[in-house]
Amino acid sequence: MLVIDVIILISGAALLLLGKLLFFTSADEKEEMGIFLPVIMYHSVFDTAPQEYIVTPEQLESDLQWLRNNGYTSVTAQQLINYTRNKCELPEHPVLITFDDGYYNNLSEAMPLFEKYDMHAIVSIVGKFTDSLAPADPHIPAYSYLTWDDIKQLSASGRFEIGSHTYDMHSFKGKRKGCAKLPNETEEEYRSTLAEDLAVLHNEMHISIGEIPAVFAYPFGNISRESVPILRDSGILMTLTCYERPNIITRDPDCLYGLFRYNRSGLYSTEEYMEMITKNKDS
Ligand SMILES: [Zn+2]
Repeated sequence: MLVIDVIILISGAALLLLGKLLFFTSADEKEEMGIFLPVIMYHSVFDTAPQEYIVTPEQLESDLQWLRNNGYTSVTAQQLINYTRNKCELPEHPVLITFDDGYYNNLSEAMPLFEKYDMHAIVSIVGKFTDSLAPADPHIPAYSYLTWDDIKQLSASGRFEIGSHTYDMHSFKGKRKGCAKLPNETEEEYRSTLAEDLAVLHNEMHISIGEIPAVFAYPFGNISRESVPILRDSGILMTLTCYERPNIITRDPDCLYGLFRYNRSGLYSTEEYMEMITKNKDS
């Protein structure tokens, strides 16, 4: 009889523990495990045959609808920074939406949809594109870059944060791919090259929108270990790569350096893409 009682007691305790694990995970416990954060990387949005770095406005709208219908809330870089540094909270299912390269269509095509679906995103601009290419051939949704007036409009909307995609290192100049360190340059040479490039865009953004960027997107996703202290010194609090993996966000500010992102290729359907970026959500 006693043996049966002990077995019942042990089974009861085991069931309680299992129930707690499955159903009663508290906010604190979730926080300790880290928060799952998929990061979406868009580039250009306009009406054309879908391509790897272009989505149509219909595809973008379908993505935003999917996120809303599945309980996701797009968070800002500032919310993530405040979570890691200022003990602020994040919504239940956060997602970070980013646009690279600073296309005018982020304003003309994407912004109305972000208003409609009450979403936020980061647009990482290339300063040189805005200074030289945008004014020469402005406001063509298929290929123009954002002018400074457009960037002011995006920023003033409160829906878009402006990030840095370098001033003029979104290129293959010499042997350098993006802003990575060259094997034959010294750390000092590299530091002055990258720091000077960052400072140009930071100054221009300060003049134009009254703030310097907190976010930096590596051109071509080409990361460089030596870039990290230089980016930190310039005031960057979050960096974006192109490695396609899920992120786990903790209260450690360092977890925002090197965030992974999934390229939103126009060649996928919304369902295919969203399944890919959310597949490890509960693991
Ligand atoms: Zn780019």
